[in-house]
Amino acid sequence: MNKEKKIEILRDILKIRTINSNEEEVAIYLKELLKEYGIESEIVNYSPSRSSLVADLKKGQGRTLGISGHMDVVDIEDENKWTYPPFAAEIVDGKIYARGAVDMKAGLAALVIAMIEIKEEDLDFNGKIRLLATVGEEIGMYGSKDLYEKGYADELDGVLIAEPTSKKSAVYSQKGSILYEIIAHGRAAHSSMPEEGINALELLVDYINLANKEFGKIFSKGENKVLGKSLNAHTVINGGGQINSIPEKVVMKANARIVPEVPGEVFLKTVNDCIEKINSQSEGHLELNVIQDLPAVESAKDNDLIKAIEEVNKEVKAMPTTGATDAANFSRVGKKIDLAVYGPGEPRLAHTIDENLPVDEYLEYIEACKQIILKYLK
Ligand SMILES: [Zn+2]
Repeated sequence: MNKEKKIEILRDILKIRTINSNEEEVAIYLKELLKEYGIESEIVNYSPSRSSLVADLKKGQGRTLGISGHMDVVDIEDENKWTYPPFAAEIVDGKIYARGAVDMKAGLAALVIAMIEIKEEDLDFNGKIRLLATVGEEIGMYGSKDLYEKGYADELDGVLIAEPTSKKSAVYSQKGSILYEIIAHGRAAHSSMPEEGINALELLVDYINLANKEFGKIFSKGENKVLGKSLNAHTVINGGGQINSIPEKVVMKANARIVPEVPGEVFLKTVNDCIEKINSQSEGHLELNVIQDLPAVESAKDNDLIKAIEEVNKEVKAMPTTGATDAANFSRVGKKIDLAVYGPGEPRLAHTIDENLPVDEYLEYIEACKQIILKYLK
């Protein structure tokens, strides 16, 4: 495939608005592209207008490498603040400007093109390349969860996630992430007679004080050599309505980042115990709602996929990360998967205004990707 076509493919998918929705349009585009080159693929519907895409390329009986990227992007907030329109994918001074240029349509396009070129050039490998293009990664990681539940991750031995890591690093382990909310139910009253009501906000304050103490205990007991300690942050609070009324309902959101030594069940049991304690001491009521529960992924620093990346890029440093990716869902299959998160783009430009990526970095990554896949499946 020539350079112009590679750039055109990236620009085409960047122009498709997939702000936490509409990924099906990208999936169909990629399906047609793959078909042009003789690769069949399958649209896997998740919900209306949200569909993942799975495609296989197989030669011999060797292991299976998943190559994966998400098709959704985050919101653009104020379009007027962008120097170049976020869905025009303009190229200025060698950089492509668009929402998703870094996180992560360039990585995704590169994986697809690497797969196409391996087929087009009839390059030798032994095993299966499985493309997994997902929906809803940014909020909820719905696509990878859906693909895992439908069995598409069952045979993976390794997974390469093309999230931006720049050329400098490749990630081999990641913390898990639990998103949850706690709803406090109290009783409204005039603030001059607080004894008539139950203050939902103060129920939560009591809860936070208790929970922080209990989290401290379980987190200090379970430290991971590579990933460090688990963390919890209470991040959002909404509730009350009137400055001189006792608030009846307050909702708090929080995010825990966990290591394998503190599995999700243990963390959530602690949350539940704290809630029960507060509930037993009050007429009010706290309620837990778990939004997302992603396990940590632990893989060796010298796993075969990382080794393949290091052979292709001598500058790269293997490191763990506190962030989570779709790999968390793919790794639920229970066996140890060789994990590598490695993709084009400066991670600090993800989710920013004027998100941009040097076109050369994208093109270089396609080449690197081909070599990494072939080395892993040799
Ligand atoms: Zn991403």
